Amino acid sequence: MSINVPKISESTFVDWSTGTLSGPGIEEGVKTLGQLEGIFRDREAWRSMAPETEVYRVRYWRPVPDGTTGGVFWGATILYPGRVGDEYFMTHGHFHAIRDRAEIYATVTGTGALLLMDEEGTVTSQEMKPGTVHYMPGNVAHRVVNTGAEPLTFLASWPSDAGHDYGSIKTAGFGKRLVLKDGEPCLV
Ligand code: MN
Repeated sequence: MSINVPKISESTFVDWSTGTLSGPGIEEGVKTLGQLEGIFRDREAWRSMAPETEVYRVRYWRPVPDGTTGGVFWGATILYPGRVGDEYFMTHGHFHAIRDRAEIYATVTGTGALLLMDEEGTVTSQEMKPGTVHYMPGNVAHRVVNTGAEPLTFLASWPSDAGHDYGSIKTAGFGKRLVLKDGEPCLV
């Protein structure tokens, strides 16, 4: 009898100094400014910037097929520093398609904030810095904002059947925004 685990050759390797994932089993997705239309408040500033500007890059490992109940996925996001007008670069943000699915993030490099929003639109913020671990319960949308000058890198693990619902964030937005105000990050 053998245990059905993925071969190590299909696995991932973490560089703990940078948070970078590598390995033959990983997939990668890039989000550019052009793909984040409507996410930032200052549309004029957004339009004046190069649409191919990379805002973040996600690498992830799906050891079981997407949608599998009972499995977990593993990923790393590199969120670059920058602003659109006075608003910091951030991830799109999402609820999970299966709403009650939870997730864990752990910060490797950089500084920023994790914004959490419940289904009533109430937003809370948690500071992200190297070593912080964040538990996101189900039914809570999550978005990461880079308020620093270097890439904000964090690892994540989430249920393999969670899925992503980006649509509700796109139409209803997040309740609060992190902007640069008087030289400081400010939640408005
Ligand atoms: Mn998630």
